Amino acid sequence: MWSEIELAYRFLEGELIGITGSNGKTTTTTLVHHILSTAGYHTVLAGNVGTPLISCVDQMNAETVSVVELSSFQLEWIEKFRPDIGVFLNLTPDHLDRHKTMEAYAAAKARIFEKQTELDAAVLNADDAPTVALAPKKPQTFWFSRKRRILQGACLRGEDVIVAHDGKEEFVMRCAEIPLPGAHNLENVLAAVTAARLAEVDSATIRKAVKSFSGVEHRLELAAEIRGVRYYNDSKATNVDATLKALDAFPGRILVILGGKDKGSDFTVLRKPLREKAILALLIGAAADKIEQQIEGSVAIERAGTVERAVEIASHAARAGDVVLLAPACASFDQFENFEHRGRVFKALVGGLERGSGAT
Ligand code: ADP
Repeated sequence: MWSEIELAYRFLEGELIGITGSNGKTTTTTLVHHILSTAGYHTVLAGNVGTPLISCVDQMNAETVSVVELSSFQLEWIEKFRPDIGVFLNLTPDHLDRHKTMEAYAAAKARIFEKQTELDAAVLNADDAPTVALAPKKPQTFWFSRKRRILQGACLRGEDVIVAHDGKEEFVMRCAEIPLPGAHNLENVLAAVTAARLAEVDSATIRKAVKSFSGVEHRLELAAEIRGVRYYNDSKATNVDATLKALDAFPGRILVILGGKDKGSDFTVLRKPLREKAILALLIGAAADKIEQQIEGSVAIERAGTVERAVEIASHAARAGDVVLLAPACASFDQFENFEHRGRVFKALVGGLERGSGAT
């Protein structure tokens, strides 16, 4: 049995950049594609991001660079699939309802490097110990880090993003020029910079492209600012780690909407950031009981039930400077068709508040 990416690989022409990890795949894949497009490459954006790779193969030629988001489900069933550049962003618990153990989940994802040879490049997150442990032997290895200096890959030098090759450093851009919020997005940018540089895009073009990247819908997307309260749609925060990253992206006074369909997650890890950053947790969906038990005592809790009610309560409770954040740490299927549907409902509700407030 093959997954669809294996079949597509048999027909693929040109180069292949594959990107996997627990979180940040879509953002990073879309950003790499945006950088390559800005550089004038003939490039295809496909895979788990939405468009099956197989549907793109007849648009490819020897010059094409395909940028493909890869899920653990897709990587579980490959055989010869071999990216020229394989990127591994991070590894945190997810999909344990399907893979059962972290080992099985990690092993599925690590298959991205399995068929790579000395001619290929592996790009990994040096700050994430579970990812470092998966570093492959055969391909050339490149790293990205926001915490330490890197000899091959991308990292920070003071407030600058730089790329290093054989210890030679090259300025790419200032961190302040990155338009996406949060330290996790800085990691995504560093990963994308490394991959784009390996694909031979020059630093000035990378800088121009990153500066003009508007992010991806439902990923810490600013839905509206109403009377000084900012409403963020992070419906794609379908696991606990993504919610941790979302909470981390703001200084404090967050009213966070949590809940949905549980994927076997441990919500107790939210206790500390909730205590430090949040002023109210609004619980929705099927996982509300479990979440309430696991976060009780760390923050004020309201059992809102639905996202409609949660937005209503939040709009009354929030004052200027606060952040209302939909970052549910759960899948959406108990109350919505998918996370996009959940995000659209949230944005429509916020749009209603905006019209009601007379703000434009
Ligand atoms: P994926 O495709 O892996 O699900 P996305 O780019 O769609 O990743 O982002 C999913 C969620 O994870 C969003 O809530 C987003 O804010 C958060 N996120 C994005 N990048 C990272 C990262 N590098 N580490 C942790 N969380 C991230």
